[in-house]
Amino acid sequence: MNAGQQQSRFDQSDDLVVMKFGGTSVEDATAIRRLIGIVQSRSGLQRVLVVSALARVTDQLLEAGHAAANGHLGLALATVRNIYVRHEQLADALFEGSASTALDQQLRQHLRELESLLHDVEASRCFDLKVQDRLLGFGECFSSQLVTETLRHAGLDAVHVDARVCIVTDDRHGQASPKWDATNQRVQDHLGLLLDSGALPVMGGFIAATEDGVPTTLGRGGSDFSAAIAGAALGASRVEIWTDVDGVMTADPKFCPDARVIQKMSFEEATELAHFGAKVLHPATLVPAVRENIPVYVLNSRSPQRRGTEIVANTNSGRRVNAVTTKRNVAAVEIELSRAIDSELLGKVFSAFDQHSCLGDVMGTSLARISLLVPSTGALPAIAADLQGIADVRWENHKALVCLLGENIRRQPEIAGRAFSAISDMDVRVMCQGASDRTISFLVEDSKAQEAVQRLHGLFFPKKEPAHDWGGISTAFCQAG
Ligand code: ASP
Ligand code: MG
Repeated sequence: MNAGQQQSRFDQSDDLVVMKFGGTSVEDATAIRRLIGIVQSRSGLQRVLVVSALARVTDQLLEAGHAAANGHLGLALATVRNIYVRHEQLADALFEGSASTALDQQLRQHLRELESLLHDVEASRCFDLKVQDRLLGFGECFSSQLVTETLRHAGLDAVHVDARVCIVTDDRHGQASPKWDATNQRVQDHLGLLLDSGALPVMGGFIAATEDGVPTTLGRGGSDFSAAIAGAALGASRVEIWTDVDGVMTADPKFCPDARVIQKMSFEEATELAHFGAKVLHPATLVPAVRENIPVYVLNSRSPQRRGTEIVANTNSGRRVNAVTTKRNVAAVEIELSRAIDSELLGKVFSAFDQHSCLGDVMGTSLARISLLVPSTGALPAIAADLQGIADVRWENHKALVCLLGENIRRQPEIAGRAFSAISDMDVRVMCQGASDRTISFLVEDSKAQEAVQRLHGLFFPKKEPAHDWGGISTAFCQAG
């Protein structure tokens, strides 16, 4: 049995749905009323809710933390007070005067804790990732309690569950990974009991804790991952990611207004898309879904009747090309080694990048050379210095990787050929074929990224023609909120 595959009565749960609502799907009273309608529309099923912080709150908390660390305590305190007031006002609007004392107390308690944390940050001038995790988690604490209370007000038996008690992670603050066995056990213990009693558990996404209870987070956008973790532990029949766009799109609609929704795609395609820069899902989301083979749906909470995108194990869509995506602002790094590559040298090179938290993709290797693609970062001079004597490191910033994605795309050379001709005047630096059969990518100047995506999208998705017409490129771009 793999880690995380604990047998339980939940293994056969055909009627359980985990519903995750992103920040824009809880951002104001209208959004939360829509959420209630959506939850009620699933009344035939057992339901677990996972909610993000209200739109913009996580960023504001981050700003408050930095402000406090830079000595601007007044600004930091004003920011968190505004966050608190926003939740209070929302509660007033939703409960129409009949205040909830319990909720008021909880929100006020969070505010007090936040204020005291910011005082500490100001005094210590320390805002490391551990402190950051504690601070950012308040967004989900606020929102999940507000949503729980609102659902109760609407007559549903919602019960708040602290995600930090259920999701156990390592202590890699800022981007922690679940410890699967402990997490599965705790999710089953805490949520399972509630489900048995007919209740509707509601928990904040994104937040977790180490085995010792130290708060962690799963990385920005991590609520999707939380939903999949809960879904896998409970053997859910589906995980629904409710957001503010119609699903996974064939290209970023901000770049390509004629981008369309992909109705169905495979776990692998969606995973590669997340890796190659599409903001549709937190990149780790599909790991537990794949492991337990749980379909994931990306749906629009503003238009819940639309079908959205279904992400499943096998699509058999017959499509040849499935996506145009772009990873912006990357640096192309050329590493010339002092001797032919061996495992010792490789280890040194990668650990130098690792030490500066600069993780990227290997684009190619030859006898004594490695090309990497990393996020543009100020750490490159330091990395080059660390590697002096071992390797000569050169790089070019301000690049974008434009990527075509589709099942077996590499086995069809005409696709690469057509794509290359469409953008060959753009000083395409490298053409790389992914390690899987599913991607072909081009490195262009970052300033040309939008145009490159538009041209490629136009080529593979001619206007007013069905998506499968050209073997259908379909790309994932929803700025899941
Ligand atoms: N609130 C967190 C963020 O903004 C997590 C999430 O929304 O998924 O990154
Ligand atoms: Mg998101």
